[in-house]
Amino acid sequence: MKLVVQVKLLPTVEQAVALRSTLHACNDAAAAVSRVAFEAGVFREYALRKAAYAPLKAQGLGAQAAQHVIKKVSDAYTSLYANIRNGNLGPAGGRRRVKAESKPIRFRSDAAQPFDDRCLSWQYDQGTVSIWTVAGRMKNLRFTGSADQLTTLRAHRRGESDLVHRDGMWFLIATCDITEKPEIEPVDWIGVDRGIVNLATTSDLDNFQGRRLQRYRRWHARKRAELQAKRTKSARRRLKRRTKREARHSTHVNHQVAKKIVAVAERTGRGIALEDLGGIRDRVTVSRHQRATLTSWPFHQLEQHIRYKAKRAGVPVILVDARYTSQMCPRCGHTERSNRPARDFFLCRRCGLAGPADVVAAVNVRTRARSAWVHVNVPDLTAA
Ligand SMILES: [Zn+2]
Repeated sequence: MKLVVQVKLLPTVEQAVALRSTLHACNDAAAAVSRVAFEAGVFREYALRKAAYAPLKAQGLGAQAAQHVIKKVSDAYTSLYANIRNGNLGPAGGRRRVKAESKPIRFRSDAAQPFDDRCLSWQYDQGTVSIWTVAGRMKNLRFTGSADQLTTLRAHRRGESDLVHRDGMWFLIATCDITEKPEIEPVDWIGVDRGIVNLATTSDLDNFQGRRLQRYRRWHARKRAELQAKRTKSARRRLKRRTKREARHSTHVNHQVAKKIVAVAERTGRGIALEDLGGIRDRVTVSRHQRATLTSWPFHQLEQHIRYKAKRAGVPVILVDARYTSQMCPRCGHTERSNRPARDFFLCRRCGLAGPADVVAAVNVRTRARSAWVHVNVPDLTAA
């Protein structure tokens, strides 16, 4: 399974200058190659190399960099024509499609550039890379990443990495090829309820910070509204930055929560059961004010984090029907809306079982996973 790991570079002032001129040189070259390709109608990498390689070398671009530039241009046209074929740019003669077809593909001067092992080497222990630049080979370029990221890089990094310049910062995005563990036969399931108040609650009674994140998001929403009202150029720029920062924070929180849930599942030999996401919005009745929170809530991202971490660990993940998980009594099965006298509280009208609503939902998710799994794995007796 492919996975990308992004590390932040910490260039000195001189190093940053060299990185910037390298990126500009590569993208200027890409723009030139793109014009050649467009005028000659040649898009395949091999044919394009014949037409464009010599002039690129003559411009002083190294052999490896020249080949990467050509491949980048060829890939860009391949995906453009795939998009056209799939109708993603509208019908033939349509405005968007004509616009795309009528001129060469452009490359921003700071567009990402791929580097392979000959142009980029990693010294994990020192936390540095050595990278080809137009100013010569640059050594001791420092990078920083979490312990997790470094372990993954060291063990699984393969092939190319992209050099990216974004918001004044430099990054390398490395591709890792991870061998998946074979899926275990689970001894039981951990039911996970995703909610607004608690981001995730498990049937083991673990719950993960919702309130803090909710406060953080509300605070951001308020700041965003203030900036939106201003309508100035600088306000727009700050708005963009703020949105990105908030997204990064959500991703970080989801990453942490998913990591903990998967670690518990792996240690205890259990699978993870989640509600089918489609059901979540129907299940909760919320005010209009809250509905905005709900649709922008990163439920889906949490699911994706859980899925890929589980896959790496060989932990099975199952989706169960989400209907009535918050209204059904896990002890007697009685299902009624008024079992939920308040949003956070469950009280069974028939047998009196009481508890936090999200825990009840998580237990119901686990129960559904248990029966779904038995159902799937029961031998088909009719076939005998
Ligand atoms: Zn009951």
